[in-house]
Amino acid sequence: MLTKKLLMIPGPTPVPPEVLQALATPMINHRGPEYAELQREVVENCKYVFQTSGDVLVFPSAGTGGLEAAIVNVLSPGDKVLSVSIGAFGDRWAKIARTFGAEVIDCAFEWGEAADPQVVDAALRANPDVKAVLVTHNETSTGVTNDLRAIAEVVRAHGPLLMVDAISSLIATDLQTDAWGCDVVVAGAQKAFMIPPGLAFIAVSQRAWDANANAKMPRFYWDFAPMRKYMERDQTPYTPAVNLLFGLRVSLRAIRAAGLQASFERHARMGRAVRAGAQAMGLKLLADPDHASNSVTAIIAPEGVSVKELRKRMREEHGITTAGGQGKLEERIFRIGHLGYITEPDIIATLAALERVLMELGLPVAPGKAVAVAGEILSGRKQA
Ligand SMILES: *Cc1c(COP(=O)(O)O)cnc(C)c1O
Repeated sequence: MLTKKLLMIPGPTPVPPEVLQALATPMINHRGPEYAELQREVVENCKYVFQTSGDVLVFPSAGTGGLEAAIVNVLSPGDKVLSVSIGAFGDRWAKIARTFGAEVIDCAFEWGEAADPQVVDAALRANPDVKAVLVTHNETSTGVTNDLRAIAEVVRAHGPLLMVDAISSLIATDLQTDAWGCDVVVAGAQKAFMIPPGLAFIAVSQRAWDANANAKMPRFYWDFAPMRKYMERDQTPYTPAVNLLFGLRVSLRAIRAAGLQASFERHARMGRAVRAGAQAMGLKLLADPDHASNSVTAIIAPEGVSVKELRKRMREEHGITTAGGQGKLEERIFRIGHLGYITEPDIIATLAALERVLMELGLPVAPGKAVAVAGEILSGRKQA
């Protein structure tokens, strides 16, 4: 049977054909001049998407490797860390810090809510010796985006390092590494970068480098210092993921040519369209509306509808893969990813399929209504 597949999950995201082709470029010597030129260009364009003039390190790894690298490079065992967590990925980062001997103070919020900067402020006042604050910019498990700019202001006023998991936000949502004073920002290949999994990107501020000089947590592969030393001559200490960099060169050129602002606006429009479409079907959203994500939308499964069954029908009858819930939200929500190489027709197709599946499951859905509402938003005729 002919099925056109649509991958609507918050990573890995679809990869454009031009990038797929670039991935198949024949291998080159990673110590030769052709490679140096490739690395120089992608690192330069990484700085553009991180909005930084500081260092951006690139490691072959899943995003989680980047989170671990951030911890072990700026902290020593026994250091106090404030974990601002609003979901599964925030909890994971705190667990990594604990694993390496940090003393983690939890500043956790209900899943579905954003972190309140005033609560972060109070936690820092109560713990003046905190060395670093861990924050997830966009919590992929709940579809909530934190007000990172406001949190950064609070953290800067107290002085600790600000470490940001921006794996599912960078390129999709504005994040001004330098202007907001972020010290370590981690991103990952398979989200809005539009390339396959396998690279972690880490922006490092001067303050973070100063901390790195005295950080005692054990590290070898992840050590920032040799990475920076080699990157100064457009190489890496260990073999880089050459093919992923070929792909990355193509995707970053495209992102830069269109402009970051256009990317933020496109993602914001897709987020608004999915949310309005879901609500037009009578569905409820998990995220507090003021902090709903432009990368992923978490939808609460209607009464009596199994998330597994709904996702199975979407996949088997319409070729559309959506994500389930994570951790304690597993059977309560399903998620639609709308970041990276996702286009407006993909959003419309997903909403149309969802309308049909819900109708088949016996829900009172007016066919075409969600699609019409979303279409208005995507066309720019309607704001929300
Ligand atoms: C996807 C994601 C991660 C984990 O990335 P992996 O590549 O699976 O390790 C971490 N944090 C956030 C916010 C994510 O969206």
